[in-house]
Amino acid sequence: MDVTASPLSPRRRTRQIHVGSVAVGGDAPISVQSMTTTKTADVDATLGQIYELAAAGADIVRCTCNERAAAEGLAQIVPRSPVPIVADIHFHVEMALAALEAGVHGLRLNPGNLRKPEEIKLVAREAKDRGVPIRIGVNAGSLHPDIYERFGGATPEALVESARLELAYFDEVDFHDVKISVKASSVATMIGAYRLAAETFDYPLHLGVTEAGPLPGGLIKGTAGIATLLAEGIGDTLRYSLTADPVEEARAGRQLLESLGLRERRGLDLIACPSCGRAEVDVIGVATAAQDALSGMGLPIQVAVMGCVVNGPGEARHADLGIAAGKKRGHLFIRGQIVRVVPEDEMVAALVEEATKIAEEGVEARLAARDVTAEAAAAADRAALLEDRGADANHVAEKVTEIRRRTHD
Ligand code: SF4
Repeated sequence: MDVTASPLSPRRRTRQIHVGSVAVGGDAPISVQSMTTTKTADVDATLGQIYELAAAGADIVRCTCNERAAAEGLAQIVPRSPVPIVADIHFHVEMALAALEAGVHGLRLNPGNLRKPEEIKLVAREAKDRGVPIRIGVNAGSLHPDIYERFGGATPEALVESARLELAYFDEVDFHDVKISVKASSVATMIGAYRLAAETFDYPLHLGVTEAGPLPGGLIKGTAGIATLLAEGIGDTLRYSLTADPVEEARAGRQLLESLGLRERRGLDLIACPSCGRAEVDVIGVATAAQDALSGMGLPIQVAVMGCVVNGPGEARHADLGIAAGKKRGHLFIRGQIVRVVPEDEMVAALVEEATKIAEEGVEARLAARDVTAEAAAAADRAALLEDRGADANHVAEKVTEIRRRTHD
């Protein structure tokens, strides 16, 4: 759909920032965010959920960074995540610094929780040095008590004032790589706060109704607030906050944008790993070739292209179909189980063939028809790759050492 012909209000012009590879603000597509519910220290579970969220439509994923083990988990997660990772910081400045050390693509600071000006400026300086943006995430439920008292409650004016004060600290250290949210669980307050924020700032705005609750009420509240603002041209990125599987959040965000004509409708869901120190193939090249080959086929299927067989099938185990690179071979997998091993130059053709068969016969039938020797071949490739590159292909140990130094417990 030609979004320039949209009957919605013209989109408010904002500065543009970049959260990793995702542009936010300016004329960038409105992006969808969600947040993991796993313990960030549980790297495999968190990466599995991140892949699920990416397949459901999340462009950016936030993970909590509430303890040293979470920061150390982020050091492993970030190089292997298919989408940019934002660390949610609660009360401790050390956790913000540790998350930066872990290589996150963005931070979320809550001005009501991290209150000391020197600490806020320290984080902003470090983020600036690393080119990492910060979301000023104001929340009506955790507003700074002084502001709450001054405004007589968590009013729209109070929420915007909280963001303005945080921005003033950032200005002192010349940090402007910022997006802002002014969330409330009251839809009316949230709408008022974002309208005022849009008049006050030219930074990108991250929309959300906080603590919206379980389905279906949470979806209705989130949609009431977010859609109202989007129709007014306000908002550059969004998150539904549901008491539900976060996949529902990502799906809802994506569907809302599609229904308003603000994002293209998706047919094929193709996800690809970012390619890290373990990659055995040109992931971008294979993913592009797979996208070209599959997108015209009109198949309602999720396909994953993964750079290595060590982690790929597990990370993308929720995809209907995927391919992971081994030693000059491609390991075709269905829902995380290896079904066939093919030569490297036949990877894309094998994906197309298997996608067609899945569409005709279904996932269960194709799993039943798998080559029973494939798993053993995959295990041999995994072992050979670990032998070649060691267990720490992404140099996580160095980051963990630095995280431990900065969090000194
Ligand atoms: S190369 Fe392997 S470990 Fe690295 S991001 Fe891709 S699948 Fe994950």
